[in-house]
Amino acid sequence: MLNRIDLRSAADAAVPRGLLPRAQLDVSVATETIRPIVEAVREHGFTAIRDATERFDGVRLESLRVPAEAIAASLSALEPDVRAALEEAIARTRRVHADQRRQDVTTRVAPGGTVTERWLPVSRVGLYVPGGLAMYPSTVVMNVVPAQTAGVDALVVASPPQKENGGLPDARVLAACALLGVDEVYAAGGAQAIAMLGYGSTGAFDGDGCAPVDIITGPGNIWVTAAKRLLRGVVGIDAEAGPTEIAILADDTADPVHVAADLISQAEHDPLAASVLVTPSEALAGAVEAELTRMVAATKHTERITTALTGEQSGVVLVRDLEQGLRVVDAYAAEHLEIQTRDARDWAMRVRNAGAIFVGPYAPVSLGDYCAGSNHVLPTGGCARHQSGLSVQSFLKNVHIVEYDEPALREVAAHVVALATVEDLPAHGEAVTARFPGGLA
Ligand code: NAD
Repeated sequence: MLNRIDLRSAADAAVPRGLLPRAQLDVSVATETIRPIVEAVREHGFTAIRDATERFDGVRLESLRVPAEAIAASLSALEPDVRAALEEAIARTRRVHADQRRQDVTTRVAPGGTVTERWLPVSRVGLYVPGGLAMYPSTVVMNVVPAQTAGVDALVVASPPQKENGGLPDARVLAACALLGVDEVYAAGGAQAIAMLGYGSTGAFDGDGCAPVDIITGPGNIWVTAAKRLLRGVVGIDAEAGPTEIAILADDTADPVHVAADLISQAEHDPLAASVLVTPSEALAGAVEAELTRMVAATKHTERITTALTGEQSGVVLVRDLEQGLRVVDAYAAEHLEIQTRDARDWAMRVRNAGAIFVGPYAPVSLGDYCAGSNHVLPTGGCARHQSGLSVQSFLKNVHIVEYDEPALREVAAHVVALATVEDLPAHGEAVTARFPGGLA
């Protein structure tokens, strides 16, 4: 079922990324497809969102903003077991994210001269919650908890309207918003939602529009991810968190049933999801293949999963040993990386590039999707080489506060003047010497 890539006789050098499974339809191609939607929303606001929503979600929007009563009613109607599970997820996620709060730090550079690094939350954030093939109340938790922990003033949620819920976003998504105290929710999905958040938009009537935000976060399909890339610069963007990926580094101690179940679990998100097994064990690869064939036929979303598993973005990579496997997973930089090997923790600590790492037989990615306490909004497409998953830090920016007294400035003044002179910016030096009319000595 999975493509096979045999790297056992490849050179020892770093693994070229081109050898690893990744989809051809990448975000840059999708960007050109959705550019007209983004531009139309920028120009025409609500009418463009309404038209795109009708086309892609099959819903004719009467208004953008979800009424407060609908959010409250969704919480009242929430099944008790789902409420209990969401409350547990919120509590665990809050516990982990509370420890991410940053402290302001003051550095004494010289007597009388200090620099304070002050951490401040952004004012208004747009949190995208997907709702196409699956519904994601858990993503409300993963977006909202770090933003609230950071101290953001205004939180805005956008999620696609659902025909089955009378044109409102999914009822469980709304219930999760209510549980977390978020009341500004818009019925918009895809590129049109990202454009709405970034540029702001008129609504169907006065009071229905959305004011622009400072940062957009949250996962989504390839169209959402492409729109976030287009809006970068207009607003802040977290990592590109597109179609899900799982890579599993496993040796002959791994249980093929666990490995197959975890590969399937992430393929379930999207036909474009990627499931990659990296192993030195041909026996394990064969056993996992056999389990996949058996388990995929028995699971609910067989078609979507089969498309994802047989796509060019998924595969088994055979390696000589775990050392080469480590180089492969580092080059791949998976959103989710599982390590199912002997001494799994030791291998995990040697990985540089991954969105999140799940260690050993009892930490499947699904645990992290919901209830580990970690965040599930994670970088995809290799972005884990340079970006992190969503955290409190994503919603903070720092400001340097510079305080020097007169002797402290005098002490360093000649160096400032020398550097200003060499850069041919003499007025910079004069701004310092002007403060010392009697000379620097
Ligand atoms: P979604 O909300 O991301 O996408 C649905 C929207 O896509 C619709 O509202 C529609 O407007 C738009 N759309 C659909 N077809 C389109 C087309 N042909 N052209 C332009 N726009 C189109 O929901 P989804 O589809 O269920 O996808 C959720 C995604 O989020 C999955 O890919 C999943 O893997 C991913 N995800 C990623 C992470 C992460 O952290 N990386 C976490 C959770 C989910």
